[in-house]
Amino acid sequence: MSTHLADLIRTIPDFPKPGVQFRDITTLLADGEGFRDLVDELAAIAAPLDPDLVIGIEARGFILGAAIAHAIGKGFVPVRKAGKLPGPTVGIDYVLEYGTDRLELHRGQVPAGSRVILVDDLIATGGTAIATAQLLREQGASISMALFAIDLPNLGGRAALEAEGVPVRAILTFDGH
Ligand code: AMP
Repeated sequence: MSTHLADLIRTIPDFPKPGVQFRDITTLLADGEGFRDLVDELAAIAAPLDPDLVIGIEARGFILGAAIAHAIGKGFVPVRKAGKLPGPTVGIDYVLEYGTDRLELHRGQVPAGSRVILVDDLIATGGTAIATAQLLREQGASISMALFAIDLPNLGGRAALEAEGVPVRAILTFDGH
């Protein structure tokens, strides 16, 4: 099943900058059978953990996270870029290759003691997921798993996240950047 999913992902060289092989999941999402199979596989990993909430990271993490949450009958909470959420927020600043960025969560939406699953489409360096995990832990949540459609193992994000004590699963892996 995963081979057919890998074949549905389009690789766009040098986007958004030279040297990056962008793994574009929109071609997979546009394929009804592929999208369903991907969500079924991710939901089958998430369901036994019986999380309180599924957390999706903007923006492609919303698509997969919301579908997984629906499939397993759990609530969904978005983690967004700075300034997008309308209510009071808590946030975390994190370092990018050039400059910094900020991720935010609606205050009180992840109660202390909740067990959550973190979802994004892809893990590369792990910077985004590690910052999100830290933000969630600051709320008193425990992270049962970080779940991705794609892992780029050469970039080391999975290992870095696991070193933070977060179990990681991904359906597909691609070599390179
Ligand atoms: P990172 O923080 O380095 O793990 O980057 C993860 C975030 O950047 C995810 O939200 C991905 O959607 C996006 N991303 C990073 N590298 C790629 C890539 N090669 N192809 C597609 N998306 C990427």
